[in-house]
Amino acid sequence: MWIFIIFAPNISFMSNNVSKELLNIYQKVINVKHCPWCGSLEFVKHGKYKFTVRYKCKNCRRTFLPSTGTSLHYIHKKDLFLSYANFIQREGMVSLKKMCKRFEIAPLTAFDWRHKILMSIPLNDKNFLGEIFMQDLWFLFNQKGRKGIPNSRKTGNDPIFLCDDNFKTRILSVKDNVRGEMKLSNVGSLEKQHFQRLFAKKMKKIKAITCPDMECFKKFSTNRNTNFINFESKINNSKIRTFKIQNQMFKTWINKRLKGVATKYIAMYCNYFLGFITQSFEPFTKKYLIQKNIWPFYTLVEEFYADFVTRYTSLEYAFPTKRKWKTSKLYYLKEWQFRY
Ligand SMILES: [Zn+2]
Repeated sequence: MWIFIIFAPNISFMSNNVSKELLNIYQKVINVKHCPWCGSLEFVKHGKYKFTVRYKCKNCRRTFLPSTGTSLHYIHKKDLFLSYANFIQREGMVSLKKMCKRFEIAPLTAFDWRHKILMSIPLNDKNFLGEIFMQDLWFLFNQKGRKGIPNSRKTGNDPIFLCDDNFKTRILSVKDNVRGEMKLSNVGSLEKQHFQRLFAKKMKKIKAITCPDMECFKKFSTNRNTNFINFESKINNSKIRTFKIQNQMFKTWINKRLKGVATKYIAMYCNYFLGFITQSFEPFTKKYLIQKNIWPFYTLVEEFYADFVTRYTSLEYAFPTKRKWKTSKLYYLKEWQFRY
């Protein structure tokens, strides 16, 4: 009898090794509202696939599952992926090496899963109001993980790059009384047009900008007819101190804890960091991981990055990654979120 107890399957698992949590996600949490391929509302049930139903679109005739296009798409160990996401949400981000060990997965899987999770966190995209604080942060242009690049050019550690503005990845950090945003701006020197692109639409109702005494900030402020306040003049203001500390924490987190993040991915780390330290996202395993736009975005990141390098850096886009997915462009992207 005791042998049976030892080898009895975990009661929370069904016979086909799918957890109740995952079944619940497929059966109740994921909303199947339209065909992920063409957006048509006309689709019918079309048999089963493993533990879930399959659908067929009456318009484009393609079949799909409830999870098609979500972060769960093409993941074999879905339950493990959910635990992985739960872990990040609970404990924060730890090194990929530790994640590989803990979850017994390959480095590339740990890397892919982390990015799928980061991409699923929604952007906080509302307008700013009243007085805002603004600061620029920079990291060296980083091509970590990219194959074929001479080593010294990967993370810019060569002294030549350290003092060259052309290799500085700029992040703009902005905060009003309610919320903050950190955005990837450009690589190179910071100019007024970069703020315009990222924030002009969201700053129609602001009254004052408190920021470092830099020419580009001043120009931006004058252009908007808003008060320009120098950081230094408010050095004892506790909100500004907190803002600066938070930005510094982000730098330390990227440089020391994560040992640098590729410029290609840094935008999503910005978003995660803000969400995590301000606790502004709720448990995201069910809510966010099942958005339909994660898979297409995930597979198109390289293209967005190529576009970013071409438009907002003076560097050459080179050494593209060789990983390709056939289906990414075929998706119907109604809820598209641009991250660059
Ligand atoms: Zn369709």
